[in-house]
Amino acid sequence: MPRAKARANVYEIDGRRPTRVVEPTNEQEVADILRAADAAGDAVVPIGGGTLLGVGNPPRHYEIALSTLRLDSVHVYDHRDLTIGAGAGMTLGHLASLLAKHRQFVPLDAPRAAAATLGGTLAAGWLGPRRATYGRPRDLLIGTTTALADGTLAHAGGMVVKNVSGYDMSRLYVSSLGTLGVITRANLKILPMPAAFRLTVARLPEGTRARAAANVQGLDVEPTAALLIDGFREILPFELGAEGAILLAFEGSAAAIERATRSVRSALGSAGVPETRIIDTGAHQTFARTIDAYVASVAERSVTLRALGLPDGVLKREAAAREGIAPTAALLDTIVDLRCGDLIARVFVDGKLDQLAVRGTLSDAVAALRARLPDATVLARGLALEGDIDAWGTLPPAIDVMRDLKARFDPRATLAPGRFLGGI
Ligand SMILES: Cc1cc2nc3c(=O)[nH]c(=O)nc-3n(C[C@H](O)[C@H](O)[C@H](O)COP(=O)(O)OP(=O)(O)OC[C@H]3O[C@@H](n4cnc5c(N)ncnc54)[C@H](O)[C@@H]3O)c2cc1C
Repeated sequence: MPRAKARANVYEIDGRRPTRVVEPTNEQEVADILRAADAAGDAVVPIGGGTLLGVGNPPRHYEIALSTLRLDSVHVYDHRDLTIGAGAGMTLGHLASLLAKHRQFVPLDAPRAAAATLGGTLAAGWLGPRRATYGRPRDLLIGTTTALADGTLAHAGGMVVKNVSGYDMSRLYVSSLGTLGVITRANLKILPMPAAFRLTVARLPEGTRARAAANVQGLDVEPTAALLIDGFREILPFELGAEGAILLAFEGSAAAIERATRSVRSALGSAGVPETRIIDTGAHQTFARTIDAYVASVAERSVTLRALGLPDGVLKREAAAREGIAPTAALLDTIVDLRCGDLIARVFVDGKLDQLAVRGTLSDAVAALRARLPDATVLARGLALEGDIDAWGTLPPAIDVMRDLKARFDPRATLAPGRFLGGI
């Protein structure tokens, strides 16, 4: 049976605490909990590792925190098939170590992989920096089992990659933030690990950034990740120059990586960047630490937004973000994804202001960012904001279809009510 624990503070969302925490150990228990909650009018918020709880608005009401952490079994793994089916509560760190035994991997690239769960990563719509090469998390997903509000266990897709035809229902749950159902199991395509993985990191001296970025975007050998980083100093495992740093990941044969490294050195050298450091040993760990920066909060004094777009315009959007923030009292850290076009912008307040002043400054800064980047959504925040900042930007044209789907899947609004776009 699910254990109710007095650990409700772990499951706090924007200052709101659940009245109960349940930790089901199998899929049927999840379904039973949902059926009972639906009948009683209790709201259920599914929670994995708690790493992406800053995505989405706080729930309108919140009686039950449903921890998925005990749904962590491997259901099917035949390494010759290049597919795995695992419980939604399995951490990405655990998954990575299982797959590594057969030199395989799944490129989900979520922050804080030791704590982040498979289900939470999918439900929060996480998009990692290597997706231009390997596909988005939803493209790697071939099937799900999901517990619906009425207690049904719904199976979508399957275990076979070729099985996916037409619209795959399992993708509907991706980035639905637990508002349509609790994902209990996910089946994924996995990949053979490339022979080698190398990072190159270069500190950018004054006046080199734009040219370095342009030269990297024109490289003949494409990196699997290309990030321009300015700020996040407390978390990065390498040093930044006056204009930040550029981090590139290369994967493939050792010979291809050597060629790529020569191209990078020449491209950055001609942009005025004197030195490019190579990281082979510990490259995966350095990459993971860098991705942790996406959700690294500065105590309760920061909000991180993500604006998606095309790689071509991403530097302009970063400049717009800087202009927007300039008149406010907030500071800005950024990660610019030169391959995927993501802009990560963390606004934060420095110094000793009281909590009210911090909130005011952060609200001004988010409004200023949104004025320039209307689609920017909140990715992470200090937990003291109590929902006074809407997590979503402009509503998409499909909002009515989304409302209709929510009404069909969860007519009594039992599942994470209010967390999604437009108060869904
Ligand atoms: C109630 C409900 C109804 C839905 N109805 C539909 C539908 O009719 N058709 C459909 O294609 N999808 C629908 N979705 C979304 C769907 O479940 C997936 O979220 C979507 O297909 C994933 O798209 P993506 O991979 O581009 O999003 P991602 O790229 O994985 O998500 C990127 C980011 O944007 C956020 N986000 C997700 N969807 C939107 C959006 N529409 N507008 C702004 N931000 C968003 C995510 O939380 C995430 O932060 C619905 C979701 C919900 C909760």
